[in-house]
Amino acid sequence: MIDTHAHLADRFSTNIEGVVDRAKKTGVEAIILSASSMADSKDNLKIAVEFPGYLLPSIGVHPMETEYDPKVLEFYLKKNPQIVAVGECGLEFCGNFEQILQDKIFKSQIELSIKYNKPLIIHSRDAMEETLEILRQYPKARGVIHCYSGGKKRINKVLELGDRWFFGIDGNITYEVGLEQVVASIPKDKLVLETDTPFLTPIPHRGETNQPAYIKYIYQKVADIWQMGFEEAEKQIDTNSKKLFQIIGN
Ligand SMILES: [Zn+2]
Repeated sequence: MIDTHAHLADRFSTNIEGVVDRAKKTGVEAIILSASSMADSKDNLKIAVEFPGYLLPSIGVHPMETEYDPKVLEFYLKKNPQIVAVGECGLEFCGNFEQILQDKIFKSQIELSIKYNKPLIIHSRDAMEETLEILRQYPKARGVIHCYSGGKKRINKVLELGDRWFFGIDGNITYEVGLEQVVASIPKDKLVLETDTPFLTPIPHRGETNQPAYIKYIYQKVADIWQMGFEEAEKQIDTNSKKLFQIIGN
């Protein structure tokens, strides 16, 4: 199992060793550290050094963050070949937002991902059409639509972006009505799984803080939807994750 999206930066996590230990005991092979801010990006690089090859850092800035410095992100990309992705970045049109500024910061990160040949971790909330519109302008970009919420009707639109795009599914699959149908409609070789730790805790741990060890409940749910055994589903999903993030597998 691979958790392709967890937030373990300093502001989210106090006991990384415990978190990693429990993940390893559960059979998690690697964890991708998503970044939401400049500070998270820096933290991810720092934390990953402690668990090389296990905690795989991403760097990037979430659309609701105001501080963005492309020069610093580019410096990180130049100096740290262990970075596996750029993100999470994208668009979020809820509450107060400035679309022009979000577009600009999103496009800047897409351009960095292409320049350094990294996949993108895309965050898109209430902005799926606008996100797709921008991604269509970058045929060389690739990545994952994190916590995919575009419904059945937009699956084909994502697939039309090209073979280099994947769908990220989270713990809400264990409790959100309708999401099972969405997952059943996504091609099996285009699905990756994520906890989004510390958020979106799956059943049977809802109400607790999420952690990468709980990715097993999401794998089990997908295996059930696919009507196959856990290991067979795991093999397919891990193949997808390794392909997307270029993880050299054990
Ligand atoms: Zn996230």
